[in-house]
Amino acid sequence: YGDANQKIDYVFKVVLIGDSAVGKSQILSRFARNEFSLDSKATIGVEFQTRTLVIQHKSVKAQIWDTAGQERYRAVTSAYYRGAVGAMLVYDITKRQTFDHIPRWLEELRSHADKNIVIILIGNKCDLESQRAVPTEDAKEFAEKEGLFFLETSALEATNVETAFLTVLTEIFNIVN
Ligand code: GDP
Ligand code: MG
Repeated sequence: YGDANQKIDYVFKVVLIGDSAVGKSQILSRFARNEFSLDSKATIGVEFQTRTLVIQHKSVKAQIWDTAGQERYRAVTSAYYRGAVGAMLVYDITKRQTFDHIPRWLEELRSHADKNIVIILIGNKCDLESQRAVPTEDAKEFAEKEGLFFLETSALEATNVETAFLTVLTEIFNIVN
């Protein structure tokens, strides 16, 4: 693991997008390092993390990009989207506004990214059920209408984070194979 001599069959770039504070960086940290931090600082500088996994006997390096705290509308540059084959569109289930902004993010994604990009809608912080402001049904319906995968996750409790990435990576894998 992490061996320089390890044979990599595929590198897939996946971008994380969505409003500030929805949990993008913690989702990435959970997936790449199995870590979570309650007082994560706002992300500084564009960065990505990688994790190599095996899908159908091939080694796939997932290169996951996190925004540079550029979550204001139109602040994410086209370089961020360049070459991306997957995208995770994240909102916070306790903040209605972050879900209401999803169509905007989707529009931005569709105007900058490859038209065959695989997209998953993610309702994060599902551990905060008592503060829920976005019904699961609303998101499910939106995802179906737009042809997106959909899952609710908790980076805090590690719920569905692995499944969300595997869903996107496996779909990309199936498209290129
Ligand atoms: P980003 O701006 O989208 O990258 O959001 P962060 O990853 O920095 O997370 C923003 C805040 O939400 C931080 O205080 C995190 O600890 C918290 N957070 C992130 N994911 C979860 C989660 O699944 N559940 C809970 N309860 N808090 C979370
Ligand atoms: Mg962040």
